[in-house]
Amino acid sequence: MEIIAHIMIGLGVGFILMFVLVLWSMQIDYRIVIATLFGALLPDLIDKPLFILNLFGNGRVGAHSIIALVVVFAIAAYLWYSGHRELAIIVMCVGIGMLSHQLADRMWIPKYIDEWLWPFAGPLHTQDPGVWVAKHLPNILSVNFIKY
Ligand SMILES: [Zn+2]
Repeated sequence: MEIIAHIMIGLGVGFILMFVLVLWSMQIDYRIVIATLFGALLPDLIDKPLFILNLFGNGRVGAHSIIALVVVFAIAAYLWYSGHRELAIIVMCVGIGMLSHQLADRMWIPKYIDEWLWPFAGPLHTQDPGVWVAKHLPNILSVNFIKY
């Protein structure tokens, strides 16, 4: 999915979370929106550079996996139960943003399920980073990027 779509989804989910937390705490906290937006971009911010540097054979490994979500939510739970509840909520919002990214990327469909279940689903299908960059770089650099 295009990055602008991830930004819009991250902002939308962030504002919904902020509204829900306003009902709970009666305080407006824009850090919720920023954390959710950051989480919505984080999988591509981590995985795409590693893929372009040819450290992973695929651009959707690691931060696009369920195990990454489990780690982030486990950190949030640890922070919550160790008394750092405000920070736990921020980390949880990062996790929810990551989940929105994975859902928007349709990681559950058979084409991507191996990456979503990584490292438990066996060997990944690999891609050539040069082919991926040649395919996506013109879209990122062009005006058409804004349309998506
Ligand atoms: Zn992605």
